[in-house]
Amino acid sequence: LVVVEGVNKHYGELHVLNDINTQVGRGEVVVVLGPSGSGKSTLCRAINRLETIDSGTITIDGQPLPEEGKGLAKLRADVGMVFQSFNLFAHKTILENVTLGPIKVRGMSRKAAEEKAMALLDRVGIANQAKKLPSQLSGGQQQRAAIARSLAMDPKLILLDEPTSALDPEMINEVLDVMIGLANEGMTMVAVTHEMGFARRAADRIVFMADGQIVEEATPEQFFTDPQTSRAKDFLSKIL
Ligand code: ATP
Ligand code: MG
Repeated sequence: LVVVEGVNKHYGELHVLNDINTQVGRGEVVVVLGPSGSGKSTLCRAINRLETIDSGTITIDGQPLPEEGKGLAKLRADVGMVFQSFNLFAHKTILENVTLGPIKVRGMSRKAAEEKAMALLDRVGIANQAKKLPSQLSGGQQQRAAIARSLAMDPKLILLDEPTSALDPEMINEVLDVMIGLANEGMTMVAVTHEMGFARRAADRIVFMADGQIVEEATPEQFFTDPQTSRAKDFLSKIL
């Protein structure tokens, strides 16, 4: 579904993405691990074209990423993104947050969009919060709303960049449970996370990055029990 070939990006002197090659198959769950500053967020943002790249190609369904304009809105609808900070529209209700994209970008009627939104909010366990503003919800509820908003666009792929990092510990599991549910239902996902339990349980593949490079790609089983590189061993010794 996603093919990343020979991708490079610099920030000035910093080679933040260094010859990145990887693929994400349909229905695959890829967890991206790596130390702070290794380029994980930049890679996710490049796939959604929130960042430009200096060289190389990224294709989704065989199509190169669009440069700008209409194509970009379509891309952002096809590739959902969930951030650490929930990025909901503060002055819109949860229901409005979830229906906005389907109405504006997908051309759905309000009624159909609201029905769909309520079904998604129910699925993530917050249907009873639909009429509230984001600020009236807990962090975990806001993040589940953000996931519902992505799902409302029927994305081909969801990118999640540390979706639980800003949450209090007791709210992390409610978001991880939603993510595990999505993974089990066959949603294609790329997740940057420090939740190793999720990585072990849900990932089909671990992509381990360091210094802007993919240093190791392996199944969770391989990666956690028998990492091949000193960088990965060092990383695991610090977090496990
Ligand atoms: P973390 O685990 O801390 O989120 P990360 O792996 O997601 O780290 P990135 O956010 O992709 O890392 O950043 C990679 C490197 O690029 C870092 O050294 C960062 O300081 C640098 N960087 C990121 N965005 C910019 C920017 N807009 N301008 C300059 N440098 C940047
Ligand atoms: Mg990051």
